[in-house]
Amino acid sequence: METMCCYDLHSHSTASDGTLSPATLVEKAHAAGVNVLALTDHDTLDGIAEARRAAAGLDLELIPGVEISVTWRAMTLHVLGLNVDPDNQPLLAGCQDLRATREQRAQQIGCKLAKAGIANALEGARRQSRGKILSRTHFAHFLVETGRAASVQDVFKNFLVKGKPGYVRGEWTAMEQALDWIRGAGGLPVIAHPARYRLTRSKLGALVDEFREAGGEGFREAGGEGLEVVSGSHNRDETLHMAALSRTHRLFASCGSDYHGPEKPWVKLGRLRGLPEGCAPIWHADAWPVTAAA
Ligand code: AMP
Ligand code: MN
Ligand code: MN
Ligand code: MN
Repeated sequence: METMCCYDLHSHSTASDGTLSPATLVEKAHAAGVNVLALTDHDTLDGIAEARRAAAGLDLELIPGVEISVTWRAMTLHVLGLNVDPDNQPLLAGCQDLRATREQRAQQIGCKLAKAGIANALEGARRQSRGKILSRTHFAHFLVETGRAASVQDVFKNFLVKGKPGYVRGEWTAMEQALDWIRGAGGLPVIAHPARYRLTRSKLGALVDEFREAGGEGFREAGGEGLEVVSGSHNRDETLHMAALSRTHRLFASCGSDYHGPEKPWVKLGRLRGLPEGCAPIWHADAWPVTAAA
């Protein structure tokens, strides 16, 4: 019965900036009662094969996903691709380019931190990432480990953000490009944690319009599909606001914890509010895999 099905459609592993391996993440999600889990690492599909193998022996449907870094009107947004083909060449090449951008940004972050008196941060972040993508999270773990910051939250207040040491503006891909890659790989594009961008009402409306209609004529083949209404980083009011937006703009509603590991104990796998009344769940979309609609 669908109401009994537990969906968590946004999570991270060590393939990006999560702290659990893909297999451990899948086992933990299963133990938490999740029936359908999307692995959505930042700008990489490297964790999917391992996650799939782990899910094969369990009563858990693994949705291959990705979280693409996008620059829209000079700000960074995250667009999820749900149910993408992890072997799709243009998507893989796009992710590869974004990882190269991350590498360059990491070098600049390292230089800026060195100027602020913090040496060897790039090497430290690299150790944290174990050769996988380089994220600000890895710099954050380095800064906490070496006693420069009290916590990861402290880092995202006092370092690596606008006006603070180690800030470098990311230059990611265009929204239309991200939609192209996701659509081309057979996936459903979803705006991740929309309330986190702190947009004004009119800018949020413009974002959702542009997202939905990217590609112009026949946008159902080219444009965006969903809005992450329920998110580990939305409070109740934000959830209700995003639910209303998904209804008025006729986008499917998605739900995901954005789990990164047990270090943030307030974010749990599969412990999400249900979608508010009147939302059309993303698992009702035509392109949703039938087997995952249990
Ligand atoms: P990046 O994509 O490398 O710029 O890093 C962004 C990542 O940093 C996000 O995906 C989160 O995992 C993490 N992050 C951003 N802001 C915060 C915050 N305030 N507290 C903890 N983690 C954060
Ligand atoms: Mn992250
Ligand atoms: Mn995100
Ligand atoms: Mn995420």
